[in-house]
Amino acid sequence: MKIRNVVLLSHQGAGKTSLTESMLFAAGAIQRLGSVEDGTTASDYDPLEVERRMGINLSLLRFEWQGTTLNLIDTPGYADFLGEVRSGLRVTEGAVIVVCAASGVEVGTEQMWDDAEKANLPRLIFVNKMDRDNADFLSVSEQIQAKLSPRCLPVQLPIGSQSDFQGIVDLVTMKAYLGAASQEAEIPAALREQAEASREKLVEAAVEADDELINKYLEGESLNNEEILAALRKSTVLGKLVPVFVGSALKGIGGRQVLDGICHCLPSPEEANAVVAKSVASGEQEEIKPSAESPFSGLVFKTSADPYVGKLSYYRVYSGVVSPNSQVWNANKNAMERIGQILTVLGKNQQPVPQVAAGDIGVVARLGLTTTGDTLCAREHAVIFPGIEFPRASFSMAIQPQSKTDLDKMSTFLPRICEEDPSLRTRREADTAEFIISGVGDNHLEIIKEKIRRKFGVEVRLDSPGIPYKETITMSTRAEYKHRKQTGGHGQYGHVLLELEPLPRGSGFEFAVKIFGGAIPQNYIPSVEKGVNEAKQEGVLAGYPVVDVKATLYDGSFHPVDSSDIAFKIAAAQALKKGLSEGQPVLLEPAMNLTITVPEMYTGDIISDLNTKRGRVLGMNPSGGINIIEAQAPYAELLRYAIDVRSMTQARGDFVMEFDHYEEVPAHLSQKIIAGKKKAGKGD
Ligand code: GDP
Repeated sequence: MKIRNVVLLSHQGAGKTSLTESMLFAAGAIQRLGSVEDGTTASDYDPLEVERRMGINLSLLRFEWQGTTLNLIDTPGYADFLGEVRSGLRVTEGAVIVVCAASGVEVGTEQMWDDAEKANLPRLIFVNKMDRDNADFLSVSEQIQAKLSPRCLPVQLPIGSQSDFQGIVDLVTMKAYLGAASQEAEIPAALREQAEASREKLVEAAVEADDELINKYLEGESLNNEEILAALRKSTVLGKLVPVFVGSALKGIGGRQVLDGICHCLPSPEEANAVVAKSVASGEQEEIKPSAESPFSGLVFKTSADPYVGKLSYYRVYSGVVSPNSQVWNANKNAMERIGQILTVLGKNQQPVPQVAAGDIGVVARLGLTTTGDTLCAREHAVIFPGIEFPRASFSMAIQPQSKTDLDKMSTFLPRICEEDPSLRTRREADTAEFIISGVGDNHLEIIKEKIRRKFGVEVRLDSPGIPYKETITMSTRAEYKHRKQTGGHGQYGHVLLELEPLPRGSGFEFAVKIFGGAIPQNYIPSVEKGVNEAKQEGVLAGYPVVDVKATLYDGSFHPVDSSDIAFKIAAAQALKKGLSEGQPVLLEPAMNLTITVPEMYTGDIISDLNTKRGRVLGMNPSGGINIIEAQAPYAELLRYAIDVRSMTQARGDFVMEFDHYEEVPAHLSQKIIAGKKKAGKGD
């Protein structure tokens, strides 16, 4: 099968998009070399990407290189868009990791390396920007070996560097290739010795994967280039070796060689690790062989909203064939989907194709219910592929339209935005009456805000979410209120005595009646309860709902003419307020359980940070270099925790947070909150 599905990974800005552009140009798939600066690349075409000069979305670029079909997936490097990277990793058999020759191995490089390692993907490295000031191939190669793996070995050497960067030496053919035209030449004399030594190292490592060749090599026989290439291929596919390429995407040097590298060294869909799915009929795992003759199965790994075509679903076909104007079964949603046109894409350009077969990647427009992560398959042979693990939406903000007329629109566009982006969640928080939008980080949500503006024409504001504080009392108390107005005409009379008792945390609010001897007639009691219930919505400290209090109506009096429902309601509300003020009221705040997973080396930082956040550590579970820290902290301290954890752990930490209980706010903070709330109230 002459297909290579490859994902490009790097730290933000190392040059994936530029490399993609350079490869597309070398392959003749585009006629003009675009640039990130001008916003004219094939891969970053979304107006948001053009504006920010960075990839936000995964983009698929399908083209041919010397008889092989390439599905290249360019991914965003920024940690906020890790979901796109995970999707890309999930549907490819190989990766190219781009490293900047000046900045070397960066935080994002290590993270992408770890992700590729976890996905068990054979990979290449491309050291880019050799033309830049401070480019230093030797030092970057050493960093790659030290920080990523000693398995990474150069298959090329640069000729010159920085402003004098001219081309590359290929350590297999032992030829030089100069300039964007890749003109073949002899190796410059000054590099000859270094090239011989590097080739020796490469061959020694490559033959290890092949028993026959290793014997030949050990017996001192020289190996021809085909044998070396075959050994290189075998060891790369097995993950025992990671070939390091070098060049400059900007100068168009090295792109062709990377294309050759992808075709020679990375596996085809048949050679890739076995893919398994769960059979819907038997519940058993079954291996899905990439054969076009088998029943159709595929995984949707991305959904996007195209301004012209509407919803686009990107899918990887694992077996069988999908054809236009057919029907497929969505095994996750238990429903048929109609397939209209079948497309392949080169960035934003779509092209209809007659079919997409096993091993390949395609795009289909306007599926009804399918979302990212769903399996599409033949109904009579239904299977479900494991879903894609998206980063958790652990950073939340309150989202509000600037104008009230747009409020209604929110309920239509929020679900649509979420459909496109599995790392996004929205919900309405009843306690604070806010719409909450949660994503991976602040950049992620800023982009979403911008998307909403462009796609739906609605300006929204993002604010820190409100904290659902509550109020309670700490002391039992009794309160009496007599509501009496008897100045001429029909008067008003209601008289209520309440007993208030604090209840254990989490009990809520209770209302009870212990009236003796008809002090208040039965028919007024519902009004008393109503008055209490309404008044408890706004506590006396800062207007937050009152919880964990039992209010017992134990006495009162009435007037045969002047008493009324409304009079008892007012009396009850006032009695409650009085009682709450006298019961030593306090503010309560939500406390969260945290499960934080970090590489062990960051444990100290996490714990000292928790101390500054009024947190407490409940337990630790170190194993295999990873520490799982169980802790609790007030929600108010955790609003930016997703961002804090990322910066403390170089984006290698993760956490889950869930509500556990309400607890008393310490007095000094409580005063601030009350003062803040009063100020806000006056401002209204
Ligand atoms: P990505 O974020 O990994 O996709 O990186 P981009 O392709 O967007 O490149 C980031 C920046 O580096 C852009 O300003 C590019 O023009 C620049 N760049 C990319 N490749 C090269 C290169 O080979 N040499 C130089 N000097 N700059 C480059």
